[in-house]
Amino acid sequence: MNKSVNLYIVVPCYNEEEVLNETSRQMLELFDKMKKAELINNKSRIVFVDDGSKDRTWNIIDTLAREHTEIAGIKLAHNAGHQNALFGGLMTVKDQCDCAISIDADLQDDINVIPEMVRKYKDGCDVVYGVRNRRDTDTFFKRTTAVMFYKLMRVMGVNIVFNHADYRLMSRRAIEALSEFEERNMFLRGMVPLVGYRSSCVYYDRNERFAGESKYPLKKMLSFAFDGITSFSISPIRMISAFGAIVCVIAVVMAVYALIEKLLGNTGAGWASLMMSIWFIGGVQLLSVGLIGEYIGKMYKEVKRRPRFIVEAYVNDGDES
Ligand code: UDP
Ligand code: MG
Repeated sequence: MNKSVNLYIVVPCYNEEEVLNETSRQMLELFDKMKKAELINNKSRIVFVDDGSKDRTWNIIDTLAREHTEIAGIKLAHNAGHQNALFGGLMTVKDQCDCAISIDADLQDDINVIPEMVRKYKDGCDVVYGVRNRRDTDTFFKRTTAVMFYKLMRVMGVNIVFNHADYRLMSRRAIEALSEFEERNMFLRGMVPLVGYRSSCVYYDRNERFAGESKYPLKKMLSFAFDGITSFSISPIRMISAFGAIVCVIAVVMAVYALIEKLLGNTGAGWASLMMSIWFIGGVQLLSVGLIGEYIGKMYKEVKRRPRFIVEAYVNDGDES
């Protein structure tokens, strides 16, 4: 595949008036270089998705788009959230591009690895993850909580790429496959690996946000992490069942202990029976909640209506030239 690629870059923006001019300047510069190297073609675009910003973000996007043919804009009617804005952007461009890269507006992710991503795409990768090498520009708090989050996700059985946020390249067919995921609780980092297809990583050092403030305060971050877990894992439900089983075992031990104490005459009236009942009822209740949870877990999987399979290739199906 030596042809130059029709690349779309999708940038979700929420109240990013301070960074947009610089971001677009750097991206346009990179676009020029890549066009000269015949890596991307003239139809390639940078698409800013305004996620219902309250500041001048849309005005700036509008002006930029009028000044540069490479820049396009999409304005969402309200603040749909980072993940939805990103997904919306990808879905809007998927029929026009060969591949699309999603990246934040604040240039924390190094745009200089974009050519490498495109080269990997040309080599046949459908998904190229941008992975952070170091995070020393993040605050200590953000770093530790992030590591804890990735570890926790792994423990819960969710397959996500370590130190990868939403900076990635996806081929058109990968985006097409992603569009079959009909869930409303978006957690793209967990969904993209489910698409399958050949993937690869590029590594970069994460920069500091060069202007403006993080749009992910602690509250949003926690709810994002919680969303990630509850949208992908029914392990918490299993934990209730496991805990119920443990309490049942303890109930048996306590029953034996209470009986021995009673036979030895060390107990007051009613103590042994109360002791046995409390542990027994506690265990049975927890187990029952866990059991109901299993059914709810099944329903949760059903209502997501995720695709049951995604085809990677056909051979000799009569349709291929
Ligand atoms: N963002 C968005 N909608 C939101 C919050 C954030 O589109 O409701 C965008 C934001 O403009 C930025 C990206 O998502 O381009 C990541 O946000 P930010 O850089 O503030 O997060 P952090 O890097 O601090 O995790
Ligand atoms: Mg950022």
